[in-house]
Amino acid sequence: MIDGKIIITCACTGAETTKAQNPALPVTVEEVVRTAMEVRAAGASILHLHVRTDDGKPTADPGRFKEVIEAVRRKCDIIVEITTGGAVGDTPEERLRPIGLIGPEMASLDCGTVNFGDEFIVNTLPTMRTFAAEFRKHKVRATLECFDLGHVYASRILIKEGLLEAPYHYGFVLNVPAAAPYSVANLEAFCQALPEGADFTVMGIGRASLPAQFGAIARGGQIRVGFEDNVFFSKGVLAKSNAELVERAARISHEAGLVPATPDEVRKYLKLRG
Ligand code: ZN
Repeated sequence: MIDGKIIITCACTGAETTKAQNPALPVTVEEVVRTAMEVRAAGASILHLHVRTDDGKPTADPGRFKEVIEAVRRKCDIIVEITTGGAVGDTPEERLRPIGLIGPEMASLDCGTVNFGDEFIVNTLPTMRTFAAEFRKHKVRATLECFDLGHVYASRILIKEGLLEAPYHYGFVLNVPAAAPYSVANLEAFCQALPEGADFTVMGIGRASLPAQFGAIARGGQIRVGFEDNVFFSKGVLAKSNAELVERAARISHEAGLVPATPDEVRKYLKLRG
């Protein structure tokens, strides 16, 4: 970690969250840009981005990604990390296409196959190799997303094969229904499996969001919040905005003696292309 600092990522939209679940979900280009500015002001340095069509459907259209990223860049310096997980049911080719066409600073790389409630996400090792090679080719820093413990070990195969370059940045996605729940013990098990020197951010899905933030701080990791992971501020109370969730993450970090890192500090730390 950066001494005395914490990296807060905001996953503001996701692929599956709907305005019916939280009317403040940013969907249009204007809504995402406004959200980027608000969460940056609240302490987020990375915006994890999925894009939607105007009617709110998830899309992996590189043109849409480009439109949103350029609009965000005109207004603020936040790092944009695009998804390559896509939406449930997207093909690997669709998910990977924006990497070469857009060349984002960061992108997520799912490290295995997993149940997702009644749905499932498929990432075979050969698929992951293809993804990692494309990331490397375009100098895109991966957030290695692990939903189960075996995913951490799968990522280590990619490292051993020379397909990923340090610094390694992980995202532990905990509490997806039918995958690993968040607990201090589970977080510790994931951490123990990391390669030496790797950094990690913790994403607690749904009601695990707040406990996972405290767990991340205690374990020296980073935090991810946002409507992709959780639309509630507290039990039964919807969050007013993504920024409200980021503000709280920054507040509890402050209480732990940590200051949110700026995007440029993160660019240097994670050796982003910039
Ligand atoms: Zn995502």
